[in-house]
This record gives sequence, structure tokens and C-alpha cells, in this order.
Amino acid sequence: MKKVDTIEIPNPANHHVHLREERMLEFTSFFSRLFSVVVAKANLKNPVVDAAGYDKYYNQDLLAYSMPQVIGGIMMTPGTTAGTVEEAYRAGARFVANIPEGVSTNSNGILLMDLTSTRSAAVYASMSELGMPLLLHVQSKFNTNLSKWELECFFSSIKLIKCHFPKLKISIEHPNLKSLIEFIYATSGMTGGIAPHYGLYTEYNIFGKNGEILRPEIFCQPPYANIEDRLAVKYAMADPYHHGERKFRYAADDAPHSILVKKGNVPASGVFSGPVGPCVVAEILESIGRLEDMPEFMKYDEEFFGVPLNSSSAKTMVLEKREWAPPRIAQCGETPSEQVYLLKGGEKVSWQIV
Ligand SMILES: [Zn+2]
Repeated sequence: MKKVDTIEIPNPANHHVHLREERMLEFTSFFSRLFSVVVAKANLKNPVVDAAGYDKYYNQDLLAYSMPQVIGGIMMTPGTTAGTVEEAYRAGARFVANIPEGVSTNSNGILLMDLTSTRSAAVYASMSELGMPLLLHVQSKFNTNLSKWELECFFSSIKLIKCHFPKLKISIEHPNLKSLIEFIYATSGMTGGIAPHYGLYTEYNIFGKNGEILRPEIFCQPPYANIEDRLAVKYAMADPYHHGERKFRYAADDAPHSILVKKGNVPASGVFSGPVGPCVVAEILESIGRLEDMPEFMKYDEEFFGVPLNSSSAKTMVLEKREWAPPRIAQCGETPSEQVYLLKGGEKVSWQIV
């Protein structure tokens, strides 16, 4: 087999980042250097849930920073109505994201078992009409992976929603279980955003014998699963299409938290992969002999988000086979509150973005 030592990725996109607010916004420089497009969630301290919030965050606060093309949206809550969605769309929002209440940072969305509530039906109808995707965090409230019962319940809910709203585009964000990945492949109109750390770690990498967290820097939700699940994530990166339909895309879920809140007994949940995430993807795909499939997985999914690529932010990412060790922390200042742990910080990585 021909040895490949350079990969070019036209229009790379990170389809799931958290740009945060205040000092953490300094980390946006990583994204503007690397990607043509980022899809940015706004589960801020005061989550963006309507047109006014959208306007303040995406159309004002973010403008002070150097950015790639940003696709923004609103967070779903039990109070979201069809009117809220339509107004937010007019302000520029292009997706609705649901993070169930209590499962992640500043999350106040709908619980998985309430996704089919009659109140949500009008919201889905409006999103369907506008072509706005629904981005779902499929997570349990109990800091564990979903039980068999919860998964069955979720799959039935999605089938019901798809039955009533066949045009509604849905993504499972960071699917970490083989069963979720199989469901995406098997269900028309379902897609998933893959985060590289789920192709890297299992529960054995983070928890000790008594369930204690050994590596808070990689702690995240949903939790890492087992070896079989990790393998399913790797092959989803290699096979982003199924019967001509795009199923998977790069969605690193970059979630910067200061090292202060990553220490403590219950570390904040989230991983910041920054410039290392694409290198990890290259390592994973190379390990299964599928490096040539990387550009298809990384390229911007214009059809799903329905937002044309802005030619002024278009770029090509180039990776070279070159060993390096990312720094342990990325920083925007000298104090711990301005520093975040970097994925694979201090470890050897065999590909580098040039
Ligand atoms: Zn996220």
C-alpha cells in the first residue's frame, strides 16, 4: 500500500463547538485558524433561547473576535414555541439544540422521555418547515450511559417524531454507543456528529477501581463506553455515507473549561481538542487503514445545515505525518482561570496540522 504522509481537507468544519463567553471567547482563535465553518452551541450561563438572545450573542458579542463562518442556533427548553423558533430563524438561527435538563453545562432542555410531548409537536412542525435541524444530546441524568430501557424509549420517540415530521433533520450529537451508531445508519434522515475523544478512550481510561475519576482533564458527558462502542465510533468516521446519504461528520464538541473547574471532586464535563482533534482523527483512520476517507468525514455538511459555505472563510486544512507533543494546556492568559487542558496534551501525536 502507498505510504501517505500528507492529507488535504477542503472546507473542514467543526460541526459542534462551544465558544462560551467572556475570557473563554479568546479560544475562538483556534477555530478561525483551522476551520471554514463552526457550528456553535450557546448553552451559556444565560442560554440563548430566543431571537433577542441570538441577536446579542451571535450578532454582537461574537463579532469582536476573529471567526470562521459561524452557524448559530437556539437552545430548546420546555418553554420553546413555534413562534420562538420562527423569530429566532429571522434573527439568523439555523438550528435548535436540546441538552436535557441537568445533564451538562448550563443545560435546561427537554428530558429524553418528553421529546414527544404534544407541546413539542408545533416546534418540530415549524423547524421542519424552515429546514432547521434538531441537534440532540442523548444523555442520561445519572452520569451514566443510557440504559437499555432508556435507549428503547429514545428510539421509539424518534421513530414517532420521524413518522409525523419526515422532513425534520435530526442529529445525535457525539454518539458514543454502538447501538446509537447502528440506529443512525438504519434510520433515514438521522445523522450524527462524531467527537474524536470517543474514538480514543473507553471507561477504563478514566475511572479507577472504585469508580473514582483518574483523569479529570478528559472527563465528559456522555461517559466513555466500552471497546466495542469505541470501535463503532472509529468506523463511523471512516464510513460517513450510507446509501448515498451523509450520516456522520466531524463534531468535536470542543468545550473549554478552565483547569480550576476541571480539578475538584466533580470535574466540569467537556474536552477541548482544538488543533489536536483533527490529528486524532487522522491517527484513528490510519490505524484502521482508512486515512483516505478523512476528507469526506471532515468536510462541511452544507446539505444538513442548509447554510451555503461563505467563500471568504473557505480554506484547506493540511496535515502532515510528523510526530509532536501538544502542550498540556492551552491558554489565553497566565492565571488558571484562563487555561484549559488540551486533548492529548503532553502525549505523542503522529499527525500535525501545518
Ligand atoms: Zn456539546
